[in-house]
Amino acid sequence: MKKLIQSFVPAALLAAGTLAAAAQDFPSKPITIVVPFAAGGPTDKVARDLAEALRKPLGTTVIVDNAAGAGGSIGANKVAKAPADGYTLLLHHIGMATMPTLVRNIPFKVESDFEYLGLVNDVPMTIIGKPGLPANNLKELREWLQKNKGRVNLGNAGVGSASHLCGMLFQHAMGVEMTAVPYKGTGPAMTDLMGGQIDLMCDQTTNTTGAIEAKKVKVFAVTTPHRLTVPALKDVPTMQELGVKDFNVTIFHGLYAPKGTPAPVLKKLNDALKAALKDPDFIKREEALGAVVVNDKRVEPAEHKKFVLSEINKWTPLIKAANIYVE
Ligand code: ASP
Repeated sequence: MKKLIQSFVPAALLAAGTLAAAAQDFPSKPITIVVPFAAGGPTDKVARDLAEALRKPLGTTVIVDNAAGAGGSIGANKVAKAPADGYTLLLHHIGMATMPTLVRNIPFKVESDFEYLGLVNDVPMTIIGKPGLPANNLKELREWLQKNKGRVNLGNAGVGSASHLCGMLFQHAMGVEMTAVPYKGTGPAMTDLMGGQIDLMCDQTTNTTGAIEAKKVKVFAVTTPHRLTVPALKDVPTMQELGVKDFNVTIFHGLYAPKGTPAPVLKKLNDALKAALKDPDFIKREEALGAVVVNDKRVEPAEHKKFVLSEINKWTPLIKAANIYVE
């Protein structure tokens, strides 16, 4: 009789039962955070620190997978198409808001292919140059750029990345076109900048603070409207102080899951994220690199999505007006 009843249970109900059971047990195996850039770079550093901070509240191992390339769209696409079970997450930055305008035809929809788990931090950027660059401030850099038109190259993490966005805005502000040299992330680009193989880069402080402090690169400006408090960066002027009006780029990071991840799993992930962002070690590590960990309100999924949509609305006209998108 039992067997007979079971055979009449609709498949959808059985599937729903399995999903509910899976959500209850979540997480029962390691969770992967996909980073859409190379290891050793600024996004990777945030992800590895976050993975460590998430381990305790989630009660499982959190692994970082670098799915780098195409300005951050390969990794984002990987997560958009991953099983919606909470075991594959994406840590991405401002690219989620600017990629759709900077690059045509990305293979996923930022607005509808993801569950938004919460924002993580805000990170300033810095304009940096190779060690032997014969300019010691932005005025001298502008003159050097004018003199060397057509010969200057600028590293970035590919079309659609934050360094691409900032680099394009920088070229626009300087009135000089440079040759973009794309890498799979600004980690490897930084190695080449320190070695003098490329001339300039705009990158997050989570990658540049150590190199600036060790004087392995020259720093010209921070991209935020206010100076930073990190000891290594506190004397670095803002682009606005140097007369470049309205130059204001801050990178946000957020955590995403594939669309359709069950609500109880999302809740567990969001709770764990909130706990991780209060971990004093995580906060200390981020602050030392110029990053500001967000408050609880911004770790709310609805707030995260609202913020990304507002960033899309903010950046789309700016990118179009500056004519810096790539067909
Ligand atoms: N900073 C990079 C970017 O330009 C990404 C990275 O390597 O983390 O988007």
